[in-house]
Amino acid sequence: MTTDMNLEEVDCPLCKESKNIPLHQEGSFQMVRCSSCQFIYLNPRPTSESLTHFYQHYLPEDSSSIQSWGRMMEPVFHRAANLLRQHRRNGRLLDVGTGFGFFMNEMKNKGWEVTGVEISQKAIDYARNSLGLTIHLGPLEKANFPNQHFDVVTAFYVIEHLPDPMTFLKECCRILKPGGILLLRYPHTTPIKNFLSIFGILNRLYDLPAHLSDFSPEMIQRCLESIGFERCRHLIGGHTLPRGLAKRIASSIFGNLSEILFYLSLKKFLFPGVSKTILATK
Ligand SMILES: [Zn+2]
Repeated sequence: MTTDMNLEEVDCPLCKESKNIPLHQEGSFQMVRCSSCQFIYLNPRPTSESLTHFYQHYLPEDSSSIQSWGRMMEPVFHRAANLLRQHRRNGRLLDVGTGFGFFMNEMKNKGWEVTGVEISQKAIDYARNSLGLTIHLGPLEKANFPNQHFDVVTAFYVIEHLPDPMTFLKECCRILKPGGILLLRYPHTTPIKNFLSIFGILNRLYDLPAHLSDFSPEMIQRCLESIGFERCRHLIGGHTLPRGLAKRIASSIFGNLSEILFYLSLKKFLFPGVSKTILATK
C-alpha cells in the first residue's frame, strides 16, 4: 500500500510554519507537531495524486462489508440526526464525504432535501444503485455550490483526511445560510497514542497515511471561530460498533464511559482519545 505512494514534505496545514517536532511513528509514517500552532499532522505525506488513487480502494467493496460498515456507523448517524432535529425539523442538507449514502438516506427519509459529495466512484455507484441517491463526484471545493445554499452541512470522519482543512471549513461557511449549522465528526487519537507510548505498546491508531492530521477539540474550535462560526458546542455524540468482539467491547466501554462523564461534568469534560462531534453556527 505504501510503496507505490509518492510522498512530499509539507508546512503546517493550518499556519504554514515549516518547523515541527516528531511526535509518533507508525510504520514508515510520522505524525509531527507544529512548532508554532501545535497542530498535529502527517509529514511527509502522500501527494494529492497518490491520495486520489488511494481513496479509490479505501472503503469496503463487497456488499456484506458495506452493510457491516453501515451498521457500525448507525449509532453515530442516529445521534447526529437527533441532534440536528433539536435545531430544525427539515431543510436543505449537504453531507460531505457521504460514502455509501447511509446518513443521507436517513435524513431523506426524515423529510430533508439531501445532497452529497464523495470522492469514491464505487461508493457513489452503491448509493445510486442500492438507495436511489444522487451524489456529486469530487471534493467539496469542486462542486461549486451557490453561496448561502444549505441549512445544514455535515461531514463524518472527513476533516482528518483533508490536505487543507481550512479551505474546506471556509467553503462550508460560504455555502451555509446565515444561522446554518455545520456538524463535524472527527477522531481525536493523540491522547491515546501518548498513553500507549508510555508502555511501549505499538499500534496503528492514527490510521496513517489515510489520516493527515489529528484535531483536538480546542484546535477545531479555534479554526471554526477564526472564520466566523459561532456557538461551537462539543459532544461525545455516540460511538461506533466495529466488527470483532474485542473492538466492539472497547468501543462500547469507552464510548459509554466518556458519555457518562460528559454529562456528569455538565457537558464540560470531553474524554480524551475518543471521537467527538462539534456543532457550529454560521
Ligand atoms: Zn501550525
